[in-house]
Amino acid sequence: MSTDGTTSSSLPTTTREWHLVSRPHGTPDPSDLALVDVALPAPSDGEVVVRNTFLSVDPYMRGRMNDTKSYVPPFALDAPMDGGAVGVVVASAVESVPVGAEVQHMAGWREHAVLPADQVRTLDTATAPASSYLGALGMPGLTAYVGLTAVAGLQEGDTVYVSGAAGAVGSMVGQLARKLGAARVIGSAGSAEKVAWLRDELGYDEAFDYHDGVAEQLRALTREDPVDVFFDNVGGETLEAAIGVMAEHGRLALCGAISGYDDTEPAPGPRNLMLAVARRLTLRGFIVGDHGHLAGEFYRTVGPWLASGELRTRETVVEGLDRMVEAFLGLGQGTNTGKMLVSVAG
Ligand code: NDP
Repeated sequence: MSTDGTTSSSLPTTTREWHLVSRPHGTPDPSDLALVDVALPAPSDGEVVVRNTFLSVDPYMRGRMNDTKSYVPPFALDAPMDGGAVGVVVASAVESVPVGAEVQHMAGWREHAVLPADQVRTLDTATAPASSYLGALGMPGLTAYVGLTAVAGLQEGDTVYVSGAAGAVGSMVGQLARKLGAARVIGSAGSAEKVAWLRDELGYDEAFDYHDGVAEQLRALTREDPVDVFFDNVGGETLEAAIGVMAEHGRLALCGAISGYDDTEPAPGPRNLMLAVARRLTLRGFIVGDHGHLAGEFYRTVGPWLASGELRTRETVVEGLDRMVEAFLGLGQGTNTGKMLVSVAG
């Protein structure tokens, strides 16, 4: 402890952070982002310094690169980007968050974060490793839980179809649907390896590669047994195909539409929307942040299933802060299975 009440391990004087330097048009170009050296200050009163260990890249960050009003503000140009992160406290001017604590916060896209102590959450790493709090036990896992329960109103015996099924959210959706009473779970993903993982390890009843045609494969799989709940991560032609195979009174939880995130013009909507009338469908979009009150219920329900190994997870870890843009762009190319993370060397 120094005379000013700060404790720390030895701190470097500089650190690195990613800045958005130009707004992408279509698919981002690596030159739209820059890794910048900056001074690392000691913590002021009430602050901690966190050495980040894992950084999250998420599809919603593409929307934040545009200068448009949405549910989360755009990234400012030539300023540090942010996002989910976990790390270890390396300097602290706050007794309640000591050096060595493993914490989660939203100052990602950088090596070190200097934050007021009330902006970090100390993690229970006895229950799960810190990185899980960015994936299965974090925002993506909660999204899957909320979408199935509060949004789609999953019922015992439902047939569920999830698109983007091998990603961070999707890999939880299929497994949670089964645990919560679904009779049949169908998933689509972008490669034969992912399809095999869904069927052989995650317990999906049916899985298919959407590159081989979504509408035809879905029709064949659901002819006798239409879909009660569709959890959509992809949008576009996948949404249209799903509308075509919904049961009467089916519910569609619209979580994301990654197939269109790099579009420069709005894509046409589903051509078969009239089926929503004929079949009395409910299409409901949602944002996980509006359902924070379900986080406690989620941890209590899903935490033990993860700890016991009843739910299976995978992380795709890209090593090195300097490769963060590669990891982010990988989301649009399907290079991840399960949660995409960037590890930052200590
Ligand atoms: P993922 O881990 O699923 O990563 C993205 C995946 O999308 C890729 O692995 C790729 O898998 C797939 N993909 C990319 N391009 C396409 C395409 N053109 N067509 C079909 N699939 C494609 O990301 P997340 O789990 O974090 O997010 C999944 C979705 O959920 C996103 O749409 C995201 O925006 C949304 N989301 C919404 C939230 C909310 O509150 N509403 C909260 C969190 C996420 P593949 O190999 O299968 O192509």
